Amino acid sequence: MKNIQAIRGMNDILPDTSRYWEMVEGLLCHVAIQYGYQEIRFPLLEFTELFTRSIGETTDIVEKEMYTFLDRNGDSLTLRPEGTASCIRAGIEHGLFYNQIQRLFYCGPMFRHERPQKGRYRQFYQFGVEAYGLFGPDIDVEIMLLAMRFWQELKIDHKVELQINTLGNLETRVKYREQLVQYFNNNYDVLDEDSKRRLLTNPLRIVDSKNPDLQELIKNAPKILDYLDYEAQAHFDGLCRILDEIKLPYVINPRLVRGLDYYCRTVFEWVTTEIRAQNAVCAGGHYDGLVAQMGGKSTPAIGFAMGLERLILLVADNLTMPNLQVIYLVLLGDDVIAEGMLLAEKIRANNKVNVIVNCGGGSMSSQLKRADKSGAAIALILGDAELAKREVLIKYLREDKPQQSVKIENIFNYF
Ligand code: ATP
Ligand code: MG
Repeated sequence: MKNIQAIRGMNDILPDTSRYWEMVEGLLCHVAIQYGYQEIRFPLLEFTELFTRSIGETTDIVEKEMYTFLDRNGDSLTLRPEGTASCIRAGIEHGLFYNQIQRLFYCGPMFRHERPQKGRYRQFYQFGVEAYGLFGPDIDVEIMLLAMRFWQELKIDHKVELQINTLGNLETRVKYREQLVQYFNNNYDVLDEDSKRRLLTNPLRIVDSKNPDLQELIKNAPKILDYLDYEAQAHFDGLCRILDEIKLPYVINPRLVRGLDYYCRTVFEWVTTEIRAQNAVCAGGHYDGLVAQMGGKSTPAIGFAMGLERLILLVADNLTMPNLQVIYLVLLGDDVIAEGMLLAEKIRANNKVNVIVNCGGGSMSSQLKRADKSGAAIALILGDAELAKREVLIKYLREDKPQQSVKIENIFNYF
């Protein structure tokens, strides 16, 4: 019989890398909380309509990437491809946006049926923040600084670059869209099949194309920055001014349009040169119209999401994990098991260190081999003779120090 394997593009995170994940996720949550953001958790499954209505019918995600199926009741459900739609759904459902400012963050798996490759998977993890009720540009700067703090804490700030752009408001985009359509129609023969289709459905997305043959054409296309109205221009100028004053480096990338329909005004990405095609580590922007569009009261909103796999690829060679203090308890004989288990409990409770108890018996030497493999710095040895004297032996596994006998009741002073 053939062994069952994981679905392509859906990865197991094995013990040798899960430590990075725990560390990175812990840090992300910690930093978000430092800025006053609170965690929100929403389901992995939602009604399909939530995503088609918010992300947009003609986006890559909705057109070809969603895991959608009918459940046993005949409802069309979708595994969440991103977090913003659910965040808004939950916020409206529970009245979180009603005359309030909300700073929220989430972390968890997302699902998109894409072609798997390095940095691109079908189940991947995102960490995201969303702020509601604030128009900016101060809040824009806040979440950029928050991301910058992650990079600094993870020591990868030299590997990423902040790119910003603005999409203006709805009227701006309508005007811009007309100019774009005209421009691409004049160059129709140069377009690839995908772009010809997008010219009809979502011409802004052509600007986002990664096809090398189109780059020259795209470079010379009209720029949205030339079509901004007064308000959007003032917002963007305000953003740039604060970024300049706090000396947060950025580049303006007029081609940055983002792949989801709901964005407006500020959009931004943190990109890296290290993971070739999959270079966006963190991406976001304003989506001021979406809460109202989804049935809530009109609320300005801004957020970003970062892909944790891409982040982990960047940090993996940068970080040395702190060595955990581990104690391995060697138990010689069945009569010391109960006493050993209790001793381990007391050390864990008192000393806040990790204690691995040898289970499954074994000779002294085989237990010490397991102790060594566990990474423990210290082995505690408990046999009948020690127990009779209410003592335990401390053996140092990584240091050249003699072993010593210690009274069980004094053991807590040694770690
Ligand atoms: P890309 O242009 O790389 O497809 P995207 O615009 O679809 O990215 P978003 O929807 O903005 O990405 O998601 C935010 C972040 O989530 C991305 O910047 C990236 O780090 C990560 N991400 C998106 N799709 C995937 C995926 N399939 N596998 C791993 N990470 C992903
Ligand atoms: Mg994508």
